[in-house]
Amino acid sequence: MAYNPIRNITYIKNKSPVGPGATAGTLMEPVSFDLNGQVALVTGAGRGIGHDLALALATAGSRTVAGVRPRGQGPGGLEAVELDLRDGGSTRAAIDKVRPTILVNNAGVGTNHDALDATEDEWNELLDVNLRGLFFACQSAARHMVERGYGRIINISSQAGHVGIKRNAAYCASKGGVEALTKVLALEWGPRGITVNAVAPGFIRTTVNAEALDRPEFVEEVIARIPVGRAGTTTEVAAAVLFLASPAASFVNGTSVLVDGGWTAQ
Ligand code: NAP
Repeated sequence: MAYNPIRNITYIKNKSPVGPGATAGTLMEPVSFDLNGQVALVTGAGRGIGHDLALALATAGSRTVAGVRPRGQGPGGLEAVELDLRDGGSTRAAIDKVRPTILVNNAGVGTNHDALDATEDEWNELLDVNLRGLFFACQSAARHMVERGYGRIINISSQAGHVGIKRNAAYCASKGGVEALTKVLALEWGPRGITVNAVAPGFIRTTVNAEALDRPEFVEEVIARIPVGRAGTTTEVAAAVLFLASPAASFVNGTSVLVDGGWTAQ
């Protein structure tokens, strides 16, 4: 039972709220964003968005493990586990060790050139990390989550999974694949207590790309087309991830949250 002093309502689990502020006929329970007791694993947590997502999940109360490549380092103060998504055995071993209740598939690679210049090696490497590696991370984590009857998987996709972006053929194909895969896994694993969702960031400022985002030609070409008039922040991506990882999102399954300032709305 929980008491809400603001509205003077007493919530009783599975019952309608009672008290002077309660509206007759509502079935509302308290909204919870608490991650205490959860174990989160974030892949690609050595830098960029993944680094900040790991810190945000830890701050929200989960025991958070940073997935880093061999000899890599996660954010200071967090446990780290080594994994390379190109190697299914390494990913499985890391996930079996951590047994996450929340998996954030953040690690990813990109390219930037005309499709006419793509090579098979580069295409294979990109799809290996962004799609094949991500799928087997989902599968390894879900095997543990099924045993518990609970799990949250959040796949970091991209606006490039929703629209075509020139000079990004393999990247768009991989992120479009992540979007479709997210829906399939949500259908298969939803009945077993696991929700699977995607977060699709737009242009996000990180320590790695800050300089590129400030170049005048980039500002002119890209920033001018973002309705909110700026690049996004890792905090804004973390907000969507924290929501999907939390008890508050228990009925959200198989969807993709675009965090792109409206770029794909046009
Ligand atoms: P980033 O700075 O390039 O970081 C990528 C992370 O993935 C690094 O930690 C990297 O590890 C890791 N990684 C790469 N290959 C790996 C492999 N084979 N096995 C395990 N880890 C591997 O990228 P970011 O900008 O933070 O992007 C993070 C995610 O958000 C990606 O999925 C990206 O596609 C997506 N995204 C980013 C933006 C954006 O504007 N930044 C926009 C849309 C979507 P190392 O440090 O060892 O290389």
